[in-house]
Amino acid sequence: VFQLSLPLNFLGSVYREMNQAMIDMGTLYNLENTQAVVKDSQDATVIPNEPMKIDFNNVSFSYLQERAIFNNMTFSIEPGKHVAFVGPSGCGKSTILKLLYRFYDVLEGDIKIGGIPIKSIQIESLRKSIAIVPQDTVLFNATIFENIAYGNVEATYEEVIDAAKKADIHSLIMSLPQGYDTPVGERGLMISGGERQRISLARALLKNSSIIMFDEATSALDAQTEQKITASIKKILAQKNCTAIFIAHRLKTIKDVDLIYVVNQGKIVEMGTHAQLLVKGGVYSQLWLIQENVSISS
Ligand code: ATP
Repeated sequence: VFQLSLPLNFLGSVYREMNQAMIDMGTLYNLENTQAVVKDSQDATVIPNEPMKIDFNNVSFSYLQERAIFNNMTFSIEPGKHVAFVGPSGCGKSTILKLLYRFYDVLEGDIKIGGIPIKSIQIESLRKSIAIVPQDTVLFNATIFENIAYGNVEATYEEVIDAAKKADIHSLIMSLPQGYDTPVGERGLMISGGERQRISLARALLKNSSIIMFDEATSALDAQTEQKITASIKKILAQKNCTAIFIAHRLKTIKDVDLIYVVNQGKIVEMGTHAQLLVKGGVYSQLWLIQENVSISS
C-alpha cells in the first residue's frame, strides 16, 4: 500500500513519491478517475489531433503562494518543430509540461494550442493530443503487451508490435520464452532502465498524439544506452509528423533540435539552436562546456 498526493500525473513527481514502482493497473485507473483539480469548461472545444502552434503568453504560476515558479513566461513552439527546455535543476522545466497537459491551471496569462486557450479545450481531447515519455516509467504487474498497450486501451496486437518495433524493443521481447505475454514486474521479468524507457516510448507512440513530450530522467542511463535511445527517438521523430518537446538535463541528447530554450529563475533567458547558443557564450555554452569536460574526464 502506498500514499499518493493528487493530482495524479505522469510526469514523475507523484511517482517519485511512491516507494514502489510497480502498482496495480486497477489502482491507477481508479486514481486517474478521481483526479479533478481542473475541470472542463461549459462548451469546451474538441481540438483535432494534429500539430498546431503552442503559445505560452505571459504565464505566471506557483505551486505554493509564497514561491513563484514562472513570472510572465512567454514562448511559442511552431507546429511540427522539435524544441528543448534546459536549465538548472528546479527552474521549472517539468512544470512547463504539467501546465501544457493541464494538471494545473495557470494563475495569469494563458496557454494556447492552435490559438485556443487550453482552459477552453475539452480535457480529454487536449490529453489525447499529447503523449508523455516520463522521467520514471511505471510498470504494472501485467504482461509486456498490457504494459505497452496502456497508452491506448483499444490497441490491437499489430499496433502494439509496430510501436515496440519503432521503440527498438521488439526483438528483445521476441527473444523471451513467452514473448509479449511475459509478465513484467515483481512476479515476472525484471527489466533494465533502458528497456523500461523503451517500453515507455512504445507506450507513447501507441497513443499516436500530435505532441510528444520527453521528460528526461536526471538519473543517468549508461552512456551507450542513452545514445541508443536518443538514436531511436531521432529515427521515430524523423518519420512522424508531430511537435516534440524535450526537457533535458544532458545537452548532448538534444543538441540537434530546431530550437533550445534556456530557462532560469522562471524566465526564458536564452533561445536558439545549439550552434547559435554556443557562439553566444552565455548560460547554455557554460553548461555545455561543463558537461563536455565531465564526459571527457570520466
Ligand atoms: P529538475 O531539472 O530537477 O527535474 P525542473 O526544472 O524540471 O527540475 P520542476 O520539476 O518543474 O523543475 O519544479 C520547479 C520547482 O517547483 C521546484 O522547486 C520544485 O520543487 C517545485 N515543485 C514541483 N512540483 C511541485 C508540487 N507539486 N508542489 C510544490 N512544489 C513543487
